[in-house]
Amino acid sequence: MERIYVGLGSNLAAPEQQLRNAIKALAQLPGTHLAGVSAFYQSDSLLPDQPRYTNAVAALDSHLAPLDLLDALQAIENDQGRERLERWGPRTLDLDILLFGDRLIDEPRLKVPHYQMHVRAFVLYPLAELAPADLQLPDGQSLNGLLQACPFVGLERLPQE
Ligand code: ATP
Ligand code: MG
Ligand code: MG
Repeated sequence: MERIYVGLGSNLAAPEQQLRNAIKALAQLPGTHLAGVSAFYQSDSLLPDQPRYTNAVAALDSHLAPLDLLDALQAIENDQGRERLERWGPRTLDLDILLFGDRLIDEPRLKVPHYQMHVRAFVLYPLAELAPADLQLPDGQSLNGLLQACPFVGLERLPQE
C-alpha cells in the first residue's frame, strides 16, 4: 500500500456536489482505501473570467500502480462530464495526483509530485489537514516550508456540514 494524495477541483455544475460524487467514486476504487478528505475550500481561478473553484484533497491508501490510478481518475472525470476543450478551461471535475508515496514519476502522462503543487494555496492548505506535520516531498522540501512561502490568499475554507 502506498499513501497517495489527490487534489480535487471543480468550477462548473454545482462544484460541491461534483466533489462529493468524486469522493464516493474514489472510495470505490479497486485495491484502494479512502483514508481521509480535507474540508472544502473556495479559491479564485488562476485565470481571469472563470467562476471560483471548489477544492479539496483526498488521501488514499492504494495498491494501484500510478498509471492505473491516473486512468481511474480520468475515468471518474469523464463520468462526471469533464470536457477537454482547452487546457485550464472551466471544468466539472479535475483530479490530480499530488503525491504518490515517496515516488518521483516522470512519464509523458504523469509527473509526480504534481508540478505546481508547491505554489498552489488551494492544494497546500487542504493537504496540510491530512498529511503528517513533518511531511517532506520527494525532493526534500517540507510541507511546512511550502506553506510558509504560500500566503492564504484568494482562499476560503468552507464550514463542514
Ligand atoms: P494542471 O496540471 O495545471 O493542474 P489540469 O489539471 O487542468 O492542469 P488536465 O487537463 O487535468 O490539466 O491534465 C492534463 C494532463 O496532465 C493529463 O492528461 C495527464 O496525463 C497529465 N498529468 C501529468 N501529471 C499529472 C498528475 N500528477 N496528475 C494528473 N494528471 C497529470
Ligand atoms: Mg489541475
Ligand atoms: Mg488535471
